[in-house]
Amino acid sequence: MKCPHCLISFHEDEAVRNLTDDCDFFWTAQYQICPACKKIIVCLKGKSSFGVKKFLVYPKGISRAPLSQDVPDDFSQDYKEACLVINDSPKASAALSRRCLQNIIRGVAGVKKSDLNKEIEELLDTKSLPTRLADSVDAIRVLGNFAAHPIKSTNTGEIVDVEPGEAEWLLDVLEGLFDFYFVQPAELGRKRDQLNKKLADAGKPPIK
Ligand SMILES: [Zn+2]
Repeated sequence: MKCPHCLISFHEDEAVRNLTDDCDFFWTAQYQICPACKKIIVCLKGKSSFGVKKFLVYPKGISRAPLSQDVPDDFSQDYKEACLVINDSPKASAALSRRCLQNIIRGVAGVKKSDLNKEIEELLDTKSLPTRLADSVDAIRVLGNFAAHPIKSTNTGEIVDVEPGEAEWLLDVLEGLFDFYFVQPAELGRKRDQLNKKLADAGKPPIK
């Protein structure tokens, strides 16, 4: 299994505690410490003659790859909450993600229009994004059916119905945008600083 905290795979070896019967199930609690991050994973399992139900109790949701420190809090906060609620409410998650997307487009890409649909259009027109990332941003409009649900575009934080897979897709695209706008430039900056230090030590002029 994959640890829902750190996403590292390990051999499943859960301990079981019997709880009790209710009118539907026989309930057990299953738990295991992740060998990698040393955090506990707790599941509640209900068994009956009709089948088995399993709920992840702790952590609350399956985390995605941890976000780099290079992503500023202003932008990462909505994303983190969108990850947290996606299992319980894909609608709420998608609303947070759309708002986050709009903040990035306005605050980082510098595109400001009356609605998200037009902002995506303008962002793509600038041809500043790598093709694959641009295509996935564009797919947000198509997958979210913005034409039929204009409120998604005009009032990004509004809770409205989502298409299957839409909430996950939004998170995937946000991750790609974070990487492009924040992580890659920061990494490149750090490498350049290292190089310039070496050049300086060798008595040579720095690169820009
Ligand atoms: Zn772990």
